[in-house]
Amino acid sequence: ATAAAVERSLDAIARDNARLNAVASARAREDASAPGPSGSAGPLEGWPVAVKANIATTWGATSCASRALEDYRSPFAATAVEALERAGAAVVAKTNMDEFGMGSKNTFGIYGPAHNPHRAAGGGDLHSPGGSSGGSAAAVAAGLCRAALGSDTGGSVRLPAAWCGVVGFKPTYGRVSRRGLVAYGSSLDAVGVLAQTVDDAGAVYRAMAVPDPRDMTCMSPALRRRIAALVADTRPGMEHLGADRPLAGLRIGVPREAWVDELSAAALDAWRAGAARLAALGCEVVAVSLPHTRHALPAYYTLALAEASSNLARYDGVRYGSRSASRAPPPARPANASLKYAATRGEGLGAEVQRRILLGTYVMSEAACRHFYRPSQRIRRLVQQDFDAVFALPNALHAPDMAPQPSDGRRAGVDAILLPTATDTAPRQGRAGEEDLVASYVNDVMTVSANLAGIPAIAVPAGRTSGMPLGLQLAAQYGDDDLLLQIARHLH
Ligand code: GLN
Repeated sequence: ATAAAVERSLDAIARDNARLNAVASARAREDASAPGPSGSAGPLEGWPVAVKANIATTWGATSCASRALEDYRSPFAATAVEALERAGAAVVAKTNMDEFGMGSKNTFGIYGPAHNPHRAAGGGDLHSPGGSSGGSAAAVAAGLCRAALGSDTGGSVRLPAAWCGVVGFKPTYGRVSRRGLVAYGSSLDAVGVLAQTVDDAGAVYRAMAVPDPRDMTCMSPALRRRIAALVADTRPGMEHLGADRPLAGLRIGVPREAWVDELSAAALDAWRAGAARLAALGCEVVAVSLPHTRHALPAYYTLALAEASSNLARYDGVRYGSRSASRAPPPARPANASLKYAATRGEGLGAEVQRRILLGTYVMSEAACRHFYRPSQRIRRLVQQDFDAVFALPNALHAPDMAPQPSDGRRAGVDAILLPTATDTAPRQGRAGEEDLVASYVNDVMTVSANLAGIPAIAVPAGRTSGMPLGLQLAAQYGDDDLLLQIARHLH
């Protein structure tokens, strides 16, 4: 039965991918169905799973949808991929994406745009699946695989999940090892999961959420224990919740600042309906304020690009990446070497990536650092403090006395917050080069705060309008991933 699911997945890719362009490369049939290294039945036994093209596998290209890495073969598999295979999953495909994870519509990449499997009522134009993990979201939504890995630096798992009508989970920063995830913004990057159901996403997450000494930013066993102890202190007895009001005793915050001008009427309706649903399940729903939210987007685009400019320096044709053949003289003298690097990077990296490297280099320069980079770091801290001020669970990274103190014997603070994932449904598929870049950056306004603070967040489908899916988003305190999954499965 398990091998049959893998066969069906490969059949579906062969049949439907020409239309969707969700998959960049599919695995050879004989390799995909080979039994995993364990041989024993793991929790993901026989699951056909796809992984984004910026996550290392030993087969196929780990291209990041970049010309520079078009033929790059990784000598090792990402820790997350090893974990999936150990749990019994079969990795069947590498998925399409925006080059190096930079984008929100899956339009910037060497494979061309992936397409949203959903069509608006009345047919018509193709829509974007969202980005940058658009291929993973489209593949799951179209049934090409049971689950897929994506990466989420500023929303790249959650935004495409919302636009394709699937679940997209970004765990707490450091829950899942980043070893083998090609770096974009290292302090923001997280491996995330896309799946049809919260339970499937949770099963994939649990298989991957283990310490990894080979990634120094992966949570240590001691930190994991500290979080578990704080959770037990803050919410004793959660397991006794009744079946009819399964979320009784939880408090959900609705952040005022997420009510932005760009929010469509349909997204607002879905948000209201979600809050009502959580209340019916027993939650107490209250308004909360996260006052620094409006600075989060510019701070994100400053910090992510600064980190990217440093991370992408390695694609110089010497350490990594294709090398330009355009300048014949070998780089014997430094002047020749810089020309060689410039030619190599000019050919290997796409226009959006080059633009971002230039901006990132600029904001880190001595003259600009004071005006852009440092204030953005301060905003990042303020965004974190906003979350620490509203969540009941203390932040395990900070001193325990920073937790809000109960005043009248009641628990202060909320357990999770509820907000839209995107301001609207998927946009029509644009042509590359015709994008309004700033408008495109605004798509991330609901998602980047969770990355700045390192907290877990999950996108859950929330119905449709005119045929196109809408998403809701839940976020919780640093380390509170299990609670988030528990709430999300009732919301879905
Ligand atoms: N759209 C955002 C960006 O381009 C987020 C990307 C991501 O999460 N990888 O930076």
